[in-house]
Amino acid sequence: MPGVATGRKRVVVVGGGIAGVGAARTLVERVGDSVDVTIVTRDTYYAAGPSRPLILTGEQSVDRIMRGYEPLAHAGIKVVYGAVKRVDPGERRVYFTSPGGVERSLGYDYLILAPGVVYDGSGIEGYWEHMNLIVNVYELGRVQAFKHELWSIREGAVLVYAPKMPYRCAPAPSETTLLVDTVLRHRGVRGRVRVIHVDANEVPQPKPLAKVYKEMFEDRGIELITGREIVEVGNGYVRLSDGEKLEYTILAMLEPNRAPRFIEEAGLGERWVEVRSPTNLRHPKYDDVLAAGDAAKLPFPKNQEIAYESALYAANSIIEELGGEPVSVQYAFVGWVYVGNPEGRLETLSVQFGLDFTRQPPGARVEGEPKREYTLQKDRWEQSYLNRLYHTLPGL
Ligand SMILES: Cc1cc2nc3c(=O)[nH]c(=O)nc-3n(C[C@H](O)[C@H](O)[C@H](O)COP(=O)(O)OP(=O)(O)OC[C@H]3O[C@@H](n4cnc5c(N)ncnc54)[C@H](O)[C@@H]3O)c2cc1C
Repeated sequence: MPGVATGRKRVVVVGGGIAGVGAARTLVERVGDSVDVTIVTRDTYYAAGPSRPLILTGEQSVDRIMRGYEPLAHAGIKVVYGAVKRVDPGERRVYFTSPGGVERSLGYDYLILAPGVVYDGSGIEGYWEHMNLIVNVYELGRVQAFKHELWSIREGAVLVYAPKMPYRCAPAPSETTLLVDTVLRHRGVRGRVRVIHVDANEVPQPKPLAKVYKEMFEDRGIELITGREIVEVGNGYVRLSDGEKLEYTILAMLEPNRAPRFIEEAGLGERWVEVRSPTNLRHPKYDDVLAAGDAAKLPFPKNQEIAYESALYAANSIIEELGGEPVSVQYAFVGWVYVGNPEGRLETLSVQFGLDFTRQPPGARVEGEPKREYTLQKDRWEQSYLNRLYHTLPGL
């Protein structure tokens, strides 16, 4: 046990995503002499989320958004692969199944929980029986299947569904709908395929962009249904909460989101990990358990910027306790939302928006004029995150 031998604090981070790696790097950079940081993560790779919708138009490919973890060793961060199954905050131990099915555990002085979200359709009738019919832009396999279906469909209906907030990346379902419309126009089959966007929220999310989407949906002949949830999935149809039945040829459904079950089973929160406040990410009951990223219960949208910012706040709590200099951080960001291309060209345009949670009420800024440049900016932003967090060469 390295921490016991060296007097260094053992920090275990669950999840090697934006928040987990962001927190781990910040700790090593600021108090590297006082901590041993181990990330436990499920997969041997990380794939960024934001540009996954562009896989539909062929403007993005998985190899550009995927990274391995091996370079993190050169940054002084240990990564072990395993799916965390249980956390015991009393005993200060994390239990996981490593590749090959071997059960392992790690003790900690500090635990940072950053496992992101799971897509949980268990509350929807018929979900398990028909899960293999559902595609979306959120998961790597499903987005490839979605692309294949979208490029094959000749007639029928594509139904895109956004569940009730909070879910990760508020604009992604509307982005999906507009990209579906683009591909169908490009293929010359839009006139024979209905595009239906069902949103469980009162308006498509995030709220400051609702007007922009509504106008675009109307201009492009996209049918919009709001304020109703999908309560049943069947072969070729869904049923909404008011009883209406809609037929689909392609169902692109985002399931309701939640943190993985081991959080609830450890008594750390029902749907999300409870935290003291957005700037104090310690668990209300356990000083040594912190949360970051999409899994944390924060009053903000769940996206990469907020995930990273929360990771810095979580790291700062430990840095301050160990006598280091905290990093500067606040909850505010600029983002870009794909709106497809109304002429059916496979050159996606985007709009820009900003949210500033340092003000009350939060400041919102929308640049609603679609531009190609915004799509390119989003790509540069995503690549710079990936390169900054996941690339480290020996000796650097
Ligand atoms: C399609 C899509 C579009 C998006 N668009 C945008 C956008 O435009 N702008 C934006 O800012 N954000 C966007 N996001 C959201 C952004 O990707 C997330 O908010 C961000 O990745 C959250 O970071 P995280 O570290 O909390 O979770 P993640 O990045 O998901 O990382 C979680 C990590 O934990 C691991 N893990 C999960 N369960 C376990 C377990 N039991 N044991 C061990 N490890 C585990 C996972 O394998 C993963 O490596 C989008 C996401 C998607 C999927």
